[in-house]
Order: sequence, then C-alpha cells, then structure tokens
Amino acid sequence: MLPEALNQLVQLLSQLPGLGPRSAQRIALYLLEQDESYLKQLAESIGTAKEMVETCPRCGGFSSSGMCAFCTDKSRDSALLCVVADPLDIYPIESTGGFNGYYFVLGGLVDPLKGRMLESLRTPELKARLGEGEVKEVLLALDFSFEGEATATVLVEELGAEGVKFTRLARGLPVGAEIDYADEDTLGQALKYRREIEPIGDQPDE
Ligand SMILES: [Zn+2]
Repeated sequence: MLPEALNQLVQLLSQLPGLGPRSAQRIALYLLEQDESYLKQLAESIGTAKEMVETCPRCGGFSSSGMCAFCTDKSRDSALLCVVADPLDIYPIESTGGFNGYYFVLGGLVDPLKGRMLESLRTPELKARLGEGEVKEVLLALDFSFEGEATATVLVEELGAEGVKFTRLARGLPVGAEIDYADEDTLGQALKYRREIEPIGDQPDE
C-alpha cells in the first residue's frame, strides 16, 4: 500500500492523457526525487498557465489577453483561413513560413465512433466567420487520420458556400500523421501543394 499522499499524486497523474497507472507511478517517483525548488516552480507554472492563458474569442487559439497575435495581425491575408483541430496545430504551420492567412481552431475532430459530430465542435463560429464574406479559401489542415478525413468531408458538405474554395494539405504527410508532430519541411511542402476538395454532391457522376 502506497502512502496516502503518494497515492493521491499517482491518482492525479494517471488522469493525464496517455498515462496509465504504471507510468503515473513512475512519474510520481521521479517527482519525489526532484529538488523542492523545481517542484514549486512546476506547481506554480501550472497555476499560472491556467490563469494567464486565455482562448482567443476569434480563432479559438491561445491568447494572453483578448484577441491573439495572429488575429490582430493586419498584414495577413483575410481571404485565406486555415482550419486546424487544436490550438497547438497552429504553431508548426506558422513556423513553415508558408502561410500568411488567418487561423481557426475547430476544437477537435469528428469521430463517429465516439459519437463526436460537427455539432460538438466550433462549427457555428466557423460558419459565422465565412458569413463575413472575406474568406475565399478554407485550408483544412487536419490530421491524415480516419477522424481527419471524416471531419474534412462533413465540413465541406456542411459549409460548402458559393465563392469559397476548400483545400487540404497535400499528401506529403504519412497516413495517420498528426500536424503538431510533422516536421517543418514536410509540412511546408504539404502546404505549398495543397489540393482543392469538392463537396461530394458537386462531383460529376462516373
Ligand atoms: Zn485568434
């Protein structure tokens, strides 16, 4: 039986994504071996991040206060909107230097198997954004996974609007690739050679 305080730490850690009880125990033991100053800093920075990091009301990405640095950057091309699943996906795309439009965070991917559909994502906000009439191209920078494909398909169906072109990253990325782990060169190429997608209903019969 672990001491109660240690047990509680393991319990809390095992709630983190990707951590089972065994890894939670390993991390708890690792933490116990660290300096107190480090642990204090770690605890404080979790609190500070929670307190200081806000959600940008326009794109849904991270911000320090109000609208984020991307949304307030007037030098960007307002005809181009890059849709990503999570806030962290913005940064690798930005660091390729190959994209100068604005971003929009969907807040996840459609997952029919888990019953997560478009309605549980920021779809109304995206519709409203397109309704402003400035966006001419929506680049769907979604993972090359089953969920990413499903999301792209239903989004185009749902949002397909006159005068708006939908594109996806080119297949430079391996199947199953996650945007936030892709290397800069590959992602840069995938951006450059992005391809247009048509709503299913608009495709000619074969
Ligand atoms: Zn923003």
